[in-house]
Amino acid sequence: MNNLEFAADRHSHRPRPFKTGSHILDIPSNRNQRRFALLLAIIITVVSLAALPFGTKILPSFGPFLPIFISWFIFADLLTAFILFNQYRASGVPSLLVMSCTYLFTGLITALHILTFPGVFSEQGMLGANQQTSAWLWVFWHSGYPAGIIFYLIAAARFPQALVSKSKISALAAVGLSSTFLLVFCLFKLATAEHKLLPEMIDLNDYRNAVTWGTGLAVAVINMTALLMMAVRFRGRDVLHLWISIALVALMFDIVLTLFAGARYSLGWYLARINSVIAASVMLCSVVNEVSRLFIKLADQHQQLLDSGNKLRIANEELLRLSSLDGLTEIPNRRRFDEIIGWELVVPEARRTPLSLLILDVDCFKAYNDHYGHLGGDHVLKTVAKTIVEEIRPYFGFAARYGGEEFAVLLSGLDARGTYEVAEKIRSAVENLEIAHAGSKALQWVTVSVGGYAVPPLREIAEDDLIAMADECLYEAKNGGRNRSIVKGWILEDAGEPIVIHQGGR
Ligand code: GH3
Ligand code: MG
Ligand code: MG
Repeated sequence: MNNLEFAADRHSHRPRPFKTGSHILDIPSNRNQRRFALLLAIIITVVSLAALPFGTKILPSFGPFLPIFISWFIFADLLTAFILFNQYRASGVPSLLVMSCTYLFTGLITALHILTFPGVFSEQGMLGANQQTSAWLWVFWHSGYPAGIIFYLIAAARFPQALVSKSKISALAAVGLSSTFLLVFCLFKLATAEHKLLPEMIDLNDYRNAVTWGTGLAVAVINMTALLMMAVRFRGRDVLHLWISIALVALMFDIVLTLFAGARYSLGWYLARINSVIAASVMLCSVVNEVSRLFIKLADQHQQLLDSGNKLRIANEELLRLSSLDGLTEIPNRRRFDEIIGWELVVPEARRTPLSLLILDVDCFKAYNDHYGHLGGDHVLKTVAKTIVEEIRPYFGFAARYGGEEFAVLLSGLDARGTYEVAEKIRSAVENLEIAHAGSKALQWVTVSVGGYAVPPLREIAEDDLIAMADECLYEAKNGGRNRSIVKGWILEDAGEPIVIHQGGR
């Protein structure tokens, strides 16, 4: 699913948009997930309601039961808090921090609950616990979680925009985490040192006071409120909210069964613990599952990015190649010629081989166009280009279309005599094509005139001067009757580099 689809999905059920990006709030639930969640909610409801009539039946106090279940609960809640916290850090969505702190709160409170539970770690419970401590911590845990969810829903509605600045994200995280720890500390102090401020909740294992004092009812009401708000607002349409709703359903029956049972180690009490573990587990499973899905999506997108990067590189190379070619003749163009000759001449002291330039011009080409048409002319240009390329191949030369019907050739390792020989090869090859040219002043075939100049190794020469020298020779060749080559410049045996003219052709 791409970002646009994500955005469309967000707008369909969330009042205001979050920052675009892949975080856990961005994942819509699918039909199977919704069906599975509904099934789970039904099972929890049916089993809990069926157990209610027998809820008060006291069962043996099985020692390891509570520590095992609560340890899993603590682990699940703290891990969920950690994953949600990282999602907050990555996305900057403030409500995710609230959710993370809610899970941190329940994880910490539950840890204190088990440490202070009488008969688990010590007879009376640890950390200065008294009779009432673990019962009150249960109340804080079961009211704190739905309160946190309500706070989350308010935060999601009031602050839908993601924070952008890293420092703001960190500052808010610090505030959230420290106030969570502070709250847990204060509530713990209240349940231990200051327990006289709170009503008596439990008498040995019997906590029916919680029901008669109305504390239990208050806890149930907060839970129901959170569940209704969550259901009305999101209707389980995305994965996270779907599973929070199920967690709230499980927690709701945890509370109902606990209150109904009225005493520890009753059937209702045991079932209630199982419900609270289900609540913690569904959340953890869904969060871990979604994180893995995000990871897989990320890996896919990374691969796509690499693929498109490769395609882009290939397209760029092709573009570069095409931009150096002449569209008609498909040999290098003037731009490429200027580039190559520039490289050849830029450091004369490094150029240890002679360099020669040929300029070739089709004879009486205007007349050819007039007689055979422009398309016929184009065809001649293509054929001449191909012939030049073939003739210079053994010399590893470079050929380009220099202008309209003019071509340039760069050769290395040849003096003026050798350059002249190459020029003559090209000239005679074109002539031997025997392309009829009725209007030519030179011959009845298409012919070219060639001007050339050879520069000795290490000799400094400006590009314009070299071209002018070759051009001058071309001019002489034209004046001399066309279909001929004139090459001047350096010849190997001449120490003094006199200008020597080679002339040929018919
Ligand atoms: P000369 O022997 O003195 O070189 O005579 P010329 O007629 O070849 O010289 P001129 O420069 O007067 O004419 C060059 C002609 O080349 C003019 C133009 O119409 C033609 N030409 C230039 N580019 C193209 C092209 O891409 N296709 C065709 N068909 N003709 C072109
Ligand atoms: Mg010309
Ligand atoms: Mg011409």
